[in-house]
Amino acid sequence: MEYVEFGKTGVKVSRLGMGCMRLPSYEKEGKTIFDEEKGIALIHRAMDLGVNYFDTAPYYCDKQSEVILGKALAGGRRDKVWVSTKNPIENDSGDDYEKRLESSLKNLQTDHIDFYHFWGISLDAFLTKVMAKDGPFERAQKLKKQGVIRHISFSFHDRDAGDKECDNLKEILKRGEGILESVLCQYNLLDRNKEPGIALAHEMGLGTVIMGPVGGGRLGAPSPVIRDLIPGKVRSSAEMALRFVLANQNVNIALSGVSTIEQLEENAAVASNNTPLQADEISQIEDMMKENERLAGLYCTGCKYCLPCPQGINIPEIFTMMNYHRVYKLTDFAKKNYAEIGKSPWMKYENASKCVDCGACEKKCPQSLPIRAQLKETHQTLAG
Ligand code: SF4
Ligand code: SF4
Repeated sequence: MEYVEFGKTGVKVSRLGMGCMRLPSYEKEGKTIFDEEKGIALIHRAMDLGVNYFDTAPYYCDKQSEVILGKALAGGRRDKVWVSTKNPIENDSGDDYEKRLESSLKNLQTDHIDFYHFWGISLDAFLTKVMAKDGPFERAQKLKKQGVIRHISFSFHDRDAGDKECDNLKEILKRGEGILESVLCQYNLLDRNKEPGIALAHEMGLGTVIMGPVGGGRLGAPSPVIRDLIPGKVRSSAEMALRFVLANQNVNIALSGVSTIEQLEENAAVASNNTPLQADEISQIEDMMKENERLAGLYCTGCKYCLPCPQGINIPEIFTMMNYHRVYKLTDFAKKNYAEIGKSPWMKYENASKCVDCGACEKKCPQSLPIRAQLKETHQTLAG
C-alpha cells in the first residue's frame, strides 16, 4: 500500500480508503439485511491490506455502517486506523450538532472521531447553517479543543450546475481557512469539474479525499473505450478510473466503497502500484476524454433548454444515459440506470416511452436535435 501525508494534518494515510457505504448485504423477505459478520471480515481484510482510513456516516447501510465499523474496530484495532464520519447538518443548531456527534461516538464505540465532516455541504448550507451563531462550526472548534473531534472536515455536494469553475467549493475553503482540515468530494474521469477546487484545497494544506472514483459504479462496468484510453496498460475500466484519480497529485485518498473481498483486493492492488501513470499517459487520457465529451456534446450538450416536458420526461438525463452506451460503451450500466427511471428516489421522472410527440422540446433545442426520434431510439436500445 502507498501512503501519503494527509495535507497538513500530520497524519499519514493509505492512498486507498475504505468507504463503508456498501457493506455486504443480502435480501430477506423483500428487505435488505446488512451482514455484520461479512462486513467485519471485509474491514479486517482492508486493514490487513494496509488501508488505514475508514469512512462511514450515520445513514449508510440503513444506519448499520457506523455500528458495524465500531464492532470491527473494537478489541484493540481502533487506534490503528483513522475514522471518518459525518454530521448531517439538518439545521443550524449547535446543540443538535452535538447530539448527532454523541450518537456517532456511541455507534462507533469510541471517544473521538479523527475526521469529522459537515456532511453534504453546499455553499448555501455552509453559510446559513454551518456558520450560524453558536452553530456547528463553533461547536466543532470547541469539541476539537476537548479532543473529541481530532480534525474538522467537510464533504462537498453542491448541485449548482452553473458553477463551472468550482467557485462554491473554493469559497467554502476560503471562509473556513485555518479551521477546515480535509475535504471529501466527488471526482472521476467522467466528472472532473471539481479539479480546480481540489487543487486549491491541496495548496491550502487540506487533506483531500475522493468519493466515487469509479463514478458511483458507472466506470466499474466493463467499457473497452475507458479501458483502452492507454491501450494494454490496465485490465479494466475500473482500474483505469482509479489509477486516473490516484495519478492526480492533489488527491490524497481515493475511497473505495466495496462489498466483496475480491473488489477490495483489486482496488488495493491498484493503490499499491508504485508505477503511477506518467504525464504523457495522463495527457493522452485527457485528450481522449475531451474527444469523448465532444462526441457526447454532438448528441446533447445537457443545456436543459428543452425542459420542462409536459409528459415529465427528463430529456437531457435520458440522453446522458444514451451517451454512456453510445460514446463510452458503458452499455450494461446505461441499461440498468434506464430501468431505474421512476423507481429510484433520485430519478423521479418518466422514461422516453411516455413521449406523445408534441414537439414542444424540439422548438427550444439550440442544437436542433431530433429529440423525438432520439428518444425512440434510446428507449429501443436501453429498454430492449
Ligand atoms: S415531444 Fe415528447 S419529449 Fe418533447 S416535449 Fe413533447 S412529450 Fe416531451
Ligand atoms: S435542449 Fe437539446 S441540447 Fe439542450 S438538453 Fe435539451 S436536447 Fe440536449
